[in-house]
Amino acid sequence: MSSPTDLDTADALGVLRRVFGYDAFRGCQQEVVEHVVAGGDALVLMPTGGGKSLCYQIPALVRDGVAVVVSPLIALMQDQVDALTAVGVRAGFLNSTQDLDARRQVERAFVAGELDLLYLAPEALGTRAVPQLLDRGRISLFAIDEAHCVSQWGHDFRPDYLALSMLHERWPAVPRIALTATATSATRAEIATRLQLTGARHFVASFDRPNIQYRIVPKREPRRQLLALLRDEHPGDAGIVYCLSRASVDKTAEFLVANGIAALPYHAGLDAATRAANQQRFLREDGLVMVATIAFGMGIDKPDVRFVAHLDLPKSVEGYYQETGRAGRDGLPSTAWLAYGLQDVVQQRKMIETSEGDLAHRRNLATHLDAMLALCETIRCRRAQLLEYFGETGTATCGNCDTCLEPPETWDGTVPAQKLLSTVYRLDRERNQRFGAGHCVDILLGKQTDKISQYGHDSLSTFGIGGDLREPEWRAVVRQLLAEGLLAVEGDYGTLALTDASAEVLGRRRTVTLRREPERSVSSRSAKPRGAATVVADLTPQATGVFERLRAWRAATAKQQGVPAYVIFHDATLRQIATDAPGSLAELSRVSGVGENKLAKYGEQILAVLADPT
Ligand code: ADP
Ligand code: ZN
Repeated sequence: MSSPTDLDTADALGVLRRVFGYDAFRGCQQEVVEHVVAGGDALVLMPTGGGKSLCYQIPALVRDGVAVVVSPLIALMQDQVDALTAVGVRAGFLNSTQDLDARRQVERAFVAGELDLLYLAPEALGTRAVPQLLDRGRISLFAIDEAHCVSQWGHDFRPDYLALSMLHERWPAVPRIALTATATSATRAEIATRLQLTGARHFVASFDRPNIQYRIVPKREPRRQLLALLRDEHPGDAGIVYCLSRASVDKTAEFLVANGIAALPYHAGLDAATRAANQQRFLREDGLVMVATIAFGMGIDKPDVRFVAHLDLPKSVEGYYQETGRAGRDGLPSTAWLAYGLQDVVQQRKMIETSEGDLAHRRNLATHLDAMLALCETIRCRRAQLLEYFGETGTATCGNCDTCLEPPETWDGTVPAQKLLSTVYRLDRERNQRFGAGHCVDILLGKQTDKISQYGHDSLSTFGIGGDLREPEWRAVVRQLLAEGLLAVEGDYGTLALTDASAEVLGRRRTVTLRREPERSVSSRSAKPRGAATVVADLTPQATGVFERLRAWRAATAKQQGVPAYVIFHDATLRQIATDAPGSLAELSRVSGVGENKLAKYGEQILAVLADPT
């Protein structure tokens, strides 16, 4: 491997400007590009939206030959190729969705060296024909996208990825670049080993996504809360709503539609055609809300997703960060919103408790859940805690998360904790019974329910001693004790049980500090006006009008060409055109995101839209 020459660097920057229309590399992009252009292997870790694609697309254009991109996302290959074609890059794909003619054409172009990039699914490399085809052309580099799919412990594991170590054996001279947004060092090490990338240089970008506002709110009436978020802050915006189960995906999508929000469902229970159609619509149309299980989202590179909402607690911080990272790839203000409540903790603890797999596996799940719960219950800056989880220290406060915007108060919850724990203790030791959270709270509140009279629980010494707190406050106490491991959930019914640590609280050897629930969480009242508003928030009324006209032009153009709107131009680019109001092609070419090809294709049309206010 040689070091990059000045010429290579100039070439790379030239390609960035000419082809993609961007002024400068971001973060470690330039280092990665130079390393790969010079023939080095690389492992690149960048958050979603960090700009991974250019890390291999630019070397693909600078180096001789065709870059082979391995991607698990067959359904998105067409869009990836369309986006490259739109900037004048020669790209093609081979996969099982193609007819024979299209396939032959791409194969021929590859062998003739008439492509810059060729996208393949990993399984293609396990066939006989595809490697033979690759031998007949000249390969500039291999890019392995979504490289965490090689990790057997991750939720995106694809067995075909394991065979990708063959790339190195069969084409040892071709540089390889593996990319992922999964950040933990364990996954990174696993990727390096399994892909035989042990000699590769690692590039780890900051995982901060400053334009995303992180908010975690107490769950009360989740669908109503979601609706308020969409109406107050994100009217007309595209976004993703994650739910745990298929049933709640369907119900939530119906609820939103009934309330006038354009929403579509997506989960593994829908047939493949419906799933593909909904995904297509989400990518192509402006302002749709996708309600989905986590089966949706990998590789969705729609840049203008303005919010990601979670109605259920994610199982790990890794998953949560990857899902929320799908918001705001274009760098414009976006929201990550999660509603979280007692039931989430009970449900997830129960799922782990009753899950198959050995003790080590359950412990692993519990560790991941604990980190997620700690994030939900923290009184510190959410972003600082998230980044620390990924090994980045040094952020004190970010000013753009709920705990920074409205610092939560804490209170000494030792006495209420003792009241609750002693209720659980008495039920267990005196009566040999176990009950769920709701019933224990009823006992503390002294409610005369049927169940209480049936079991004679009004004679317990803790009956009615909790009148100083209201029911939601008691639920918050239970939730936080569960999150901290001071209380446990057991069995199929999710009944409460004591832990070793409970004894310390009961024996007054440990105090309990709790987070006070804000009466009203950060919302439209305190936040700036946002929404479809987000993108035009600080534009003048005149520029806003221009932006809307440009958007209408883009929608019509995208429809005509059958490509997603963002393939024509991103919101951020239209926004800059609206503010700069360029009067000539030369001025227009200076706008970020306007490269040579798009300038030639759309420049006159844009100037016409700007000139004609009708
Ligand atoms: P990732 O694959 O890491 O999630 P992408 O490659 O899709 O991210 O890039 C995210 C967004 O940032 C895209 O819209 C891309 O066009 C834009 N982008 C990437 N690099 C730059 C850059 N150097 N300057 C301006 N925009 C960039
Ligand atoms: Zn913060």
